[in-house]
Amino acid sequence: MPSTKTFFYAKNLNDVFYQLKNISELNIVGGCTSFVGKNLPDKALSIRDIADLKVIDKRERYIDLGAALSLSEIEDLGEANLPKIFYEAITTIANRNVRNIATVGGNICTKDFYNTLYAPLLALDARVEFMEEDDSHLQAIMRFDSIPHGMILSKVRLPLEEWEISVFRRLGPPNSINELSAGFAFLANSQKNQISDLRIAYAGSFKFRDIDLENKLIGAHLPLSNTAISNFMLEAEDFFNRAIKDKGVNDILKRQFWNLVKYSLEQLT
Ligand SMILES: Cc1cc2nc3c(=O)[nH]c(=O)nc-3n(C[C@H](O)[C@H](O)[C@H](O)COP(=O)(O)OP(=O)(O)OC[C@H]3O[C@@H](n4cnc5c(N)ncnc54)[C@H](O)[C@@H]3O)c2cc1C
Repeated sequence: MPSTKTFFYAKNLNDVFYQLKNISELNIVGGCTSFVGKNLPDKALSIRDIADLKVIDKRERYIDLGAALSLSEIEDLGEANLPKIFYEAITTIANRNVRNIATVGGNICTKDFYNTLYAPLLALDARVEFMEEDDSHLQAIMRFDSIPHGMILSKVRLPLEEWEISVFRRLGPPNSINELSAGFAFLANSQKNQISDLRIAYAGSFKFRDIDLENKLIGAHLPLSNTAISNFMLEAEDFFNRAIKDKGVNDILKRQFWNLVKYSLEQLT
């Protein structure tokens, strides 16, 4: 017998937390686009229209984006108001119709898969805010695995540093997500002809970012020599293989990682 699906309605955050407390196994959802072709949860409450979760707050060093903002609302802020790599990643997701419905919170919270925005968020050292009835806390996305019980994702905080080199690639089929989908992000800055900051992130059915690996190139002189690139590629291969061991990552995604790391490093020559 098909199971009954119930969609609950909330006008504000008080309603959301009241229902979370009183309805067992209630799932917080955004635009539900991640469920296309799959089963919707039996009990769902969409936070898409909660005004408090649609905040856009731009400061000197960061911008806060409410979890209920649609991807197209964020896209409409324009590249000048967002980290370039994040803006680029948003524009590669699905198409404008899906982006009108899909929320940034849903992109981050999808279970068992790190969606297109994940690698740029990892590379940017973004932070995510979790909220419960009378408390909230910000946490580095690097340390985020799943939403704490009884909480919702309320916003994401993006640092607004400038990056000299910014490379983003969305991998996989163009209009859907499958096991060959992944996002790659590379950021680099230099000072006095030496690499001063470097970030490499890769995410899909797995997530990868390793600060020890990145540190191996901090201080390297620019332009990078071919030998420096080859040596770093060996290190990157070793770090990545260890991180994804036993995770069944497809060989195509492994090869794409090497190619993209090499391509990105060549931007520093
Ligand atoms: C045709 C098509 C193409 C697509 N292409 C892409 C693509 O290229 N890249 C990509 O990344 N995705 C893609 N998607 C998947 C999806 O559209 C996006 O990931 C989207 O951002 C999900 O947002 P949503 O609001 O619809 O999330 P939902 O489907 O509503 O939710 C996703 C998950 O997050 C949880 N959740 C949502 N919001 C919150 C919150 N605030 N707090 C706690 N938990 C929450 C839900 O319980 C659920 O588990 C595609 C989908 C379709 C239909």
